[in-house]
Amino acid sequence: MTTIAVVQARMGSSRLAGKVLEDLGGIPVLAWVCRAAAVIPGVHKVVVATSRLGGDDAIEAWCTVAGIACYRGSEDDVLSRFADITSQEQPELVVRLTADCPLLDPQVCGQVIALLRLTGADYATNADPRRWPDGTDCEVVRAAALLEADRLAVQPSEREHVTPYVRNRRLRYRVESLACPIPGLGGQRWTLDTADDLAFLRRLVGYLPTTDRPPSFLEALAAAEQAGAIEPITARSGAVVAAVAEATTPSAADNQGPDYARSNALLERAIRTIPLGTQTFSKAYTQMPAGAAPLFLSHGRGARVWDVDGNRYIDLVCGLLPVVLGYCDADVDEAIQRQMNHGISFSLATDLEAELAERLVSIIPCAEKVRFGKNGTDATSAAIRLARAFTGRDRVAICGYHGWQDWYIGATSRDKGVPPAVRALTHPFPFDDLVALERLLVSHRDEFAAVIIEPMTAAEPAPGYLEGLKALTHAHGALLVFDEVITGFRLALGGAQEHFGVAPDLASFGKAMGNGMPIAAVVGRADVMAEMEEVFFSGTFGGETLSLAAAIAVIDKMRREPVIDTLWQKGRRLAEAVDAEIAARQLDDVIRLQGSAPWTLVSIADHPTARAAAIKTLFKREMLATGVLIGGSHNVCYAMDDADHATVVAAYRGTLDTIAEELASGDLEQRLGCPPIEPVFAVR
Ligand code: PMP
Repeated sequence: MTTIAVVQARMGSSRLAGKVLEDLGGIPVLAWVCRAAAVIPGVHKVVVATSRLGGDDAIEAWCTVAGIACYRGSEDDVLSRFADITSQEQPELVVRLTADCPLLDPQVCGQVIALLRLTGADYATNADPRRWPDGTDCEVVRAAALLEADRLAVQPSEREHVTPYVRNRRLRYRVESLACPIPGLGGQRWTLDTADDLAFLRRLVGYLPTTDRPPSFLEALAAAEQAGAIEPITARSGAVVAAVAEATTPSAADNQGPDYARSNALLERAIRTIPLGTQTFSKAYTQMPAGAAPLFLSHGRGARVWDVDGNRYIDLVCGLLPVVLGYCDADVDEAIQRQMNHGISFSLATDLEAELAERLVSIIPCAEKVRFGKNGTDATSAAIRLARAFTGRDRVAICGYHGWQDWYIGATSRDKGVPPAVRALTHPFPFDDLVALERLLVSHRDEFAAVIIEPMTAAEPAPGYLEGLKALTHAHGALLVFDEVITGFRLALGGAQEHFGVAPDLASFGKAMGNGMPIAAVVGRADVMAEMEEVFFSGTFGGETLSLAAAIAVIDKMRREPVIDTLWQKGRRLAEAVDAEIAARQLDDVIRLQGSAPWTLVSIADHPTARAAAIKTLFKREMLATGVLIGGSHNVCYAMDDADHATVVAAYRGTLDTIAEELASGDLEQRLGCPPIEPVFAVR
């Protein structure tokens, strides 16, 4: 059974024509790639695959002189080129290389092949997620999967880019990714796409050892660092990187109406064994336009996710807000992988608990002591039990959403299963209204243990409100709890209490703390937290180490890089662009953006001709069809780039046009074609 390396090459690059035969350190760029390909451990033969266009004759001529096999096929249908070579050569594995990666390391490619073999995968790469420098890319695919893709792939982007059909169908194919041993290299650009790139590579190769063998990855890295001293490589054009990434992946917006067939089939399967088909109310099919939405995702990277049908979206949900840095963040993933080599859950505590607790104490104003949980609900429930133990009282005043536990959910319309005795102890109060809260506290004088509130949702607290809330709560002998499950690690590193300058007695954190890993924390005053010595808050997984390692990596990254400022800036830029589109269509009475830039709520109101639920359903359906996954808010992440921003604004334009047209027809609800989505319940 053999492995062949196929080097895809063409002269007609739009950005740098003839780039593959450009001189680089005395030999053509293509020669660098073929020289590396020939010594990849396990590769038996190298074939250059180019098109039948006359312009590519030069590539064939070069191959003839160099003694390398050259195959010529379709210009656009590159997948068919690969499939033809595969049918002809009958290998077991095909290594896909591109002629614009002169710094390819054969040993790294060998590792990708080994990874595929050892895991039994159908496809393996070092290029997705992007952890290795762009320009060291290697993809390995089983011949059987490649030939199947050739039979089944119909989208032009899947045919042009050869592997998307396989790598985006993770339910059908096993896909593996080779981690890079050195973190933080995913932004490096060693590929050849522009004249700028060529100038940079020419400088870089000047620092390589003078030898005829291909450079190793570490030699290239050292040379890049030296070249970087002349022109910092990290400062190189992000726009070009974004443009290339954009050009190489299909989006739901590229399709002629996205296909959700696999999502719908998977729902049928899932609901046979899982009530609602999933674990979270707001991720369920009941919250999506029936039959016109993705229901299952397969993977994500940066601000983008792919559904099981292969459609790509900019994700403004971000896992319901945990994914604050972006999917597959290299630093967080690295931390998790490093910890995974040591073990996950242990029989005694680990030092990671103190490592993380110390960080929380140093960044969160009210945090003197800390305990960990998994979901936000763990943290809010721990806070309430603590407050009850500390004050010896039972009643709780609530404002916002606080989780699925009895004491909270019993006060909503989803109270099924909660005993009336529990429900009677919880009392909602309105935001920004001290008079109403005082009335409530007085109505059960000396009975309130805690006032728990989301310090900011749709509106900023009025000046003095949070200070007044604290004074009022204390005047009535209760504890003030800030539910910072959303605001933490988003509004500011230390949450809303840092942002607004008011420290509560206790606070709960979750969501963004682990960039997607399940971790939450209750933090607060040392004297109150001391009750934890007696109060039972204790679970098997409280000290699970992968999540602790992830949270440490998140905090360290947020301290090292301007993550929070970037969330504000990206959220604000998006909100301003969307506001302008809403205003241009005079839809301000129907759709409004509220809240803070890092978490902007999209509020949809009733219109004389259509209910809010129907308009919202149309909004979701159209945004999805144009490549944006959205719930009721913009949950921006750090990785969101200019191309993502542009996709979202374009999706809004089309969606708002459709909403305006449908409202003008006076018949939106009837023409919707599916039942309006009913909200799980309304709290904010
Ligand atoms: N509090 C707030 C403010 C929340 O938004 C949430 C989750 N949406 C929770 C608590 C509960 O967190 P979890 O779903 O992780 O239990």
